[in-house]
Parts: sequence; C-alpha cells; structure tokens
Amino acid sequence: RSNAEKFEFQAEVSRLMDIIINSLYSNKDVFLRELISNASDALDKIRFLALTDKEVLGEGDNTKLEILMKLDKEKKILSIRDRGIGMTKDDLIKNLGTIAKSGTSAFMEKMQTGGDLNLIGQFGVGFYSVYLVADYVEVISKHNDDIQYVWESKADGSFAVSEDTWNEPLGRGTEIRLHLRDEAKEYLEEDKLKVGVYIDFAINPACVQITIELVKKYSEFINFPIYLWASKQVDVEVPSDEEESSDEEETSETATTEEEEEEEEETDEDSSEKKPKTKTVKETTYEWERLNDMKAIWLRNPKEVTEEEYSKFYHSLAKDFGDDKPLAWSHFIAEGDVEFKALLFVPPNAPHGFYENYYIDNKSNLKLFVRRVFISDEFDELLPKYLNFLKGLVDSDTLPLNVSREMLQQHSSLKTIKKKLIRKALDMIRKISDEDPDEFHNKDKPDAEKESEEDEKKGQYTKFWNEFGKSIKLGIIEDAHNRNRLAKLLRFESTKSEGKLSSLDEYISRMKPGQKDIFYITGTSKEQLEKSPFLERLMKKNYEVIFFTDPVDEYLMQYLMDYEDKNFQNVSKEGLKLGKDSKLKDLKESFKELTDWWKGALFGVNVDSVKISNRLDDTPCVVVTPKHGWSANLEKIMQSQAL
Ligand code: ADP
Ligand code: MG
Repeated sequence: RSNAEKFEFQAEVSRLMDIIINSLYSNKDVFLRELISNASDALDKIRFLALTDKEVLGEGDNTKLEILMKLDKEKKILSIRDRGIGMTKDDLIKNLGTIAKSGTSAFMEKMQTGGDLNLIGQFGVGFYSVYLVADYVEVISKHNDDIQYVWESKADGSFAVSEDTWNEPLGRGTEIRLHLRDEAKEYLEEDKLKVGVYIDFAINPACVQITIELVKKYSEFINFPIYLWASKQVDVEVPSDEEESSDEEETSETATTEEEEEEEEETDEDSSEKKPKTKTVKETTYEWERLNDMKAIWLRNPKEVTEEEYSKFYHSLAKDFGDDKPLAWSHFIAEGDVEFKALLFVPPNAPHGFYENYYIDNKSNLKLFVRRVFISDEFDELLPKYLNFLKGLVDSDTLPLNVSREMLQQHSSLKTIKKKLIRKALDMIRKISDEDPDEFHNKDKPDAEKESEEDEKKGQYTKFWNEFGKSIKLGIIEDAHNRNRLAKLLRFESTKSEGKLSSLDEYISRMKPGQKDIFYITGTSKEQLEKSPFLERLMKKNYEVIFFTDPVDEYLMQYLMDYEDKNFQNVSKEGLKLGKDSKLKDLKESFKELTDWWKGALFGVNVDSVKISNRLDDTPCVVVTPKHGWSANLEKIMQSQAL
C-alpha cells in the first residue's frame, strides 16, 4: 500500500509474538476471549465518556454499544467489530507494538517456566494471542479524534499503519480481521469438534455452530450484546408438482438443501392418498444472532446463583483461567441510605510477587459500576490497601452517574460502602476458617451434617493463610478499627502447635492456670528460635510460646498490644512474668552485691540494668532488650535494610 508507514515491533513484543506463533499450545480459542474482552473494554470506555458528554456517541448505528462478529468462509477471515472508543493512529502504533507493557517480560518468564498461555490476559498482552490462529491480522480503527486507519502485521517483526481509503467507514470503533492459518485445519477433526475447540469453518458448516458455542462460553459475562452473522436453516414451503408415489430419493434444488419432513414421509408410507401440493425445504439464510443474554450475575438473587456460576464469573472477572476455584466469595445487596450490590472473591492464589511489590504497585482489584455502567477498575477508595488481594465488583445505586471520577472519589457514600465491604470481606474470610474441619474450633463439632463438604473445605484456611496471611498481618498494622477481628484470623506456629498452624483462641485455650500474658518470640526461623535460651525455662514450665518468623511480625507486634484482655509479652524482652516465684525476692536480696558489681563493670556499655531472673534454666545469663526498645531481631532486620 502506497500510504503505509512501517514500524518495527518493540524487541520484547517481537519475542513474545514469536513465542505465541511457535507455541504448541492446544487451547487456541483463548484469542477469542481476549478479543471479546478488548472490545468490551473499548465499549466501557466510550460509555464512560458519554456519561459526561453525550455527543461522543454520535448518532445512528454509532450509538449502539455492541460487538459484531462475522465469518468469511471463502477468504477464511474471522472478524470482530466493536463500536467502542476506537484507536487513533498514535494509539495503534503505541498500543499494538511499540510500547511493551510491563507484563510482557513477566509473561514470557512465566511461559518459560511452564506457565499456561491461558493466563495471557492477566499480563496485559492478550491482543497478541491472535497469532495463535492467524498469520495475518488487520486492525481497522476509527476514533472520534482521528480519521480511520488500518494496522496490519504478518508477525514478521514489523507492522504497517495506513490511512484507510478502501474499507467501509466504521463510524467509530475497531474491527479486527484475522486471516486464519492453515494449521487451523487441525481443528476440523471430529473429536476436536466434539470438545468444542475449533476455529476453521471453511469446509464444515457445522463449525459455525461451534463458533457460536465458543463465543457464548466467553461472552457469558460481557455487558454488551454480542452478535454473530450466523447462518440459519429455515423451513420454507415451496410448491411441489411432483407425484410422489414412492420413497425414492428426490433431486434437490440447486440453491437449497432439501429435506422432506419426517411426518410427511410417514404419512406417505401409511397412505398414499394425500399428495401434498407444497413441500418443506430447508434454506440457508444469514442473520445477526444474539449470543449472550447479559444478565449481570451480581444483580441476581444470591440464592439463585449456583456455585458453578460464581466460579465461572470469578474466572472471567479476574482473567484467571487456572483450574482452581476461588477460595471464597461473598455476594450481597446493601439496602438503606447507601444502596449497592457487591460481589467479592478470595482468589485461589496470590499473584506472583504480590507482597514484594506491596508498597509499589498495590492496586485495587475491585471494579466500580454505577447502575450497571462500568466506571473504573482503578478506584482505590473502596477497599483499604491490605484487602487489595480481593477481586470483585461494586455496583452502586446511590453514586451519581454524570460526574467525573475525581468527583466520585469525594462522594460521601463511599465511606459507608467501604465500611460495609471491609466487614463483609472479613466475614467471608472468617467463614473459610469456620467451614474448615481442620480448624481448631471445628474439631469438636459433630460433623455429621458437614460430612459431604468435608473434603472440599478441608485445609482451605491453611491454604488461605499461606497465600494471603501477610495481608491479614498488614491489616492489623493498618486498620486499628478492625484489629481485633483481624487478630482472630491470625495463624502461627508455636512451641505446642506441632508443626501445624494455631490461632490466638487456640493458644488461649491452652494457657496454664494463672498465666496472664501471651508469650511470643521473634526471629528468622522456627529452628533457630527453638534453640533460644529465652525459651528454656518457659519450656520446662510447660508454657506455650508463639514463633513469629516473618520480618513483618516485628511491626505487627508493635501494633497488636492485646487480645481478649491478654497482653503480649516478647520473651526476649524485659517484663517477663512467670507467675509467682517466692524464692526470687530472696535471691535478689542475696545476690544484690553481685548484680551491683556487674552494673559497675558494664558501665558505659549501654546496659540499663542487671537483674536476677527466673526466665533461665541451663544458660547462666542472657541479654534482654527493654520493653519498649527494639528486639534483637528487629535490630537485625533494620541493619539488613539499612545497607
Ligand atoms: P489489555 O487489554 O490488557 O490492555 P491487550 O493486549 O489485550 O491488553 O490490548 C492492548 C491495548 O490495545 C489495549 O489496552 C487497548 O488500548 C488497545 N486495544 C486492543 N483492542 C482494542 C479495541 N477493540 N478497541 C480499542 N482499543 C483496543
Ligand atoms: Mg485485553
């Protein structure tokens, strides 16, 4: 094309495309899901702009917020078109090739370590999955701020962008044309067809049906209508002049597939008196067939939504197409002053590197809708940071629609929504523990009625804790208001937990009579702590001591002062009281001379005091840190961070 401008793909993008093209990945229909999701995103964007400026929608067909798909059997083209926001020339160049997203290399890394290509959408590079099935792709796009352009690439390291002077004007939006590869033929095998993963349609007309199934599968939770230009067999009555005296095969008319209705055939056999003057033939016509019904799951009555539907919705919402079900969900409808519907999920796994980047790119995973219109998925005002591992959505009836995102952020009902969301989220997490038969508080419950659930719920809280326990700890630090609720969710190992996880309630149930404080010790590992001289005496006296071995635990314990009227005591710090010891007073008296001598001898070495203590058994002496000072472990952590 004479007006084409050529561009090189950014090196990483080019490598990514190579990986995709050469992938032996069998689940190629991933591309369809990604294209539908991009179309839906583009429609969300224009609908959002239209809230404050109706003009952006234009008129006529442009106002229809829909997705249209077509199959061209002769040319082997699958096209998907949306009336979304579209892309300017600049957008096309940047979004589809020259600017690599941060997820590009992360995704390739994942692929090299046996990751599933299915997860491509999570890394923000879903578009390139088109090269799983196509060897040549055209993206035609019209944005309100620009003229119509065509982006095209054969995935050979470069792409071209040209002013579109030959295609039909789109009005607004994007059409993606996939020129399907020959290998797509493998999908024509019978068994492939049966399992519903197939893409070509040139040879077998049944394929159109399969495409419909596939689109249905991926569009179930898309909030815009999706249509397919689909063939349909219709019955038409045509005059029949032939005498039909026998069952002999009939010659079919050229343009239609002819088929005698069964009933008629039967009557023919039974009696040959009635000779029909007309007959029914099947004719192929095309029409826009609506493929999704768009009933938003969160608007439905929670009692009527099945587990499987929630699970499927989670996968589509979170773009998490792994095999695992979400660990828990909470679907509720808030009424009163502030009305909203919400659906929250605990994902089965924490995203890769989630906690390493906690303070850098910890973003909300909640989508905000206002009366079913998607507003934003970057709305950080709905949940506190520590709950950002949750996925889900909020659909508000009270927030105003026609204001900017910035104004929404100031809205008074957000506070109420946030408060309720936190409460529901913590309830949902507590429920994982309440339903887990492995959990301490469930051990004595008669599990007759729980029998069937047992397997599925068993160990779920431990799984939750291993994936997201850190978030609970960060919550205790960040959220004073819910500290006690969060502390209930805390799990740890201790001198008595026998390699399993324990809760504070469980600890309290094992406390010795007369024991006032909850004992804990901090360090880098359980193995190291078990050898600590600070434990000697406590162990001998059969006191339980909690092991806190995560660096965050040091900070945690600066905020978690008490639980159920019991104070926490770091056993390596001053103030350890092990019940009454009548001998101690006498000992202190008789050794006063020695302790005074020590104090003098250590003068100038930063020692506050020298005391006789009952905390030791075999070890002659230990260095103890003051109650409000840094523990030795924290000192070590700070040193390693100071560099
Ligand atoms: P993601 O959707 O996660 O951003 P993709 O690789 O799927 O990543 O898409 C890359 C970008 O290309 C999108 O962010 C968007 O800006 C643009 N894009 C893709 N498809 C469309 C479309 N149908 N309409 C408008 N923009 C699109
Ligand atoms: Mg996408």
